[in-house]
Amino acid sequence: MSNVRTLFLLACWPTAAVAQAPSTLLQAERQFVAVDAAVIALTHVALIDGQGTAPKPDQTIIIRDGRIGWVGSAASAQIPEGAKVLDLAGHTVIPGMVGLHDHTFYGGAQWPYVHLPVSAPRLYLASGVTTIRTTGSTAPYQDIIVKHSIDNGQTVGPRMYITGPYINGPGGNHGMMHEVTTPEAARRIAAYWAAEGASWLKVYNMMTREELSALVEESHKHGVKVTGHLCSIGYREAVALGMDAVEHGLYANQEYDPDKKPDQCPGVKMSVFESLDMNGEAVQSTFRDMVSHHVGMTSTVAIFEGLMADRPPLEQRTLDALFPPAREVYLQARAMLAKPEATSVRVSEAGFKKMLAYELGFFRAGGLLGAGVDPTGIGGVLAGFGDQRNYELFLEAGFTPAEAIQVLSANGAKILGAFDRFGSVSAGKLADLVVIRGDIVGHPADIRNVTLVFREGVGYDSPKLIESVRGMVGLR
Ligand SMILES: [Zn+2]
Repeated sequence: MSNVRTLFLLACWPTAAVAQAPSTLLQAERQFVAVDAAVIALTHVALIDGQGTAPKPDQTIIIRDGRIGWVGSAASAQIPEGAKVLDLAGHTVIPGMVGLHDHTFYGGAQWPYVHLPVSAPRLYLASGVTTIRTTGSTAPYQDIIVKHSIDNGQTVGPRMYITGPYINGPGGNHGMMHEVTTPEAARRIAAYWAAEGASWLKVYNMMTREELSALVEESHKHGVKVTGHLCSIGYREAVALGMDAVEHGLYANQEYDPDKKPDQCPGVKMSVFESLDMNGEAVQSTFRDMVSHHVGMTSTVAIFEGLMADRPPLEQRTLDALFPPAREVYLQARAMLAKPEATSVRVSEAGFKKMLAYELGFFRAGGLLGAGVDPTGIGGVLAGFGDQRNYELFLEAGFTPAEAIQVLSANGAKILGAFDRFGSVSAGKLADLVVIRGDIVGHPADIRNVTLVFREGVGYDSPKLIESVRGMVGLR
């Protein structure tokens, strides 16, 4: 790990920060800008607007000064004189995705945690993720540096919401989490990261109710929200303690395990999920509590699929993006997962189906479901690519394409409290738009064919961004 880090420090530490307007990107980053004009018209697209409305054919979107100026049928569009017109017949446009569990590091059981200040922002943006929440970090100060660099227009990447480090009780800290063992420590760390620029904090498996309660109370005093990958605390307890959101859907809610004891993590048992009744009182009362208290839930189904045997389909673009030694480790782990003795780490087919059903049930009950990628696991689920994979898995779960896009965009913005600024293709919002070659309703896998990504009206060249990080994921 130290060798990799040293190499990273030597190879790619950013040059000294000089505040720059977004229109004056550093020359090296300027190469990724494909479209930059005050007025841009995207004509003849199929549109999924993020608000859950049915996909509309033959639409035109007019971008003006970084915002969506007008959207409607191509036949009724009045293209302003001097507009840069892109005829996009055969393409689909969706809102920029909002990745709520989008770490800027790579790693997991088999590979050291490596921060990715170069490849993660580029892969997210290239994949159509225009906003990320880091939701736990191995290098929170580097996240802040990257965020400022993006905000200053020095680096291309998504808009970033910083969460600071992982915060956990004692045990299972993966060698990189901040441990709190008293309510006072929880308050101290909440106040500290609020002052450093975190807008959310993320807790992990082993928190006690007493410490979590102190952390939530102090965070809220500073306007900071709290989410978590829970285990020692069930979702109904989390709601009662004032948490704003929870991560990972069913996988991180152990309140249905009959062996669960207060403040203790009983581990994750596929058998409990497999036998869970979605229409039963236990599940329905969780949903009622969360909905009535406006507690959001983040789906990370792509990463759980990555813990199943022979899934997801192996993609060449993933293998190409990985640092070659990390690629080898991933392929070995993937082969191991297919062996019968790997059952203890594996997500079962039946358990996975229940995870999907839980999220659909929560959504249909009126719950605010967002999504993120969580690029960890055994590796191989990458920044951005995994956010796209979530779309296909939502369709497998039974969401309509319009609902799936709503989860991936508008709902994320709502959970962040930013839906008035972005998250849907609506006049007046920031022009965060993803242009996809093909038809993601008829051919869901087309979501991989992103050609252009607009963030605040600047169009970035997706294939060029992906090509620029070849061999980098797992290194920098
Ligand atoms: Zn995570």
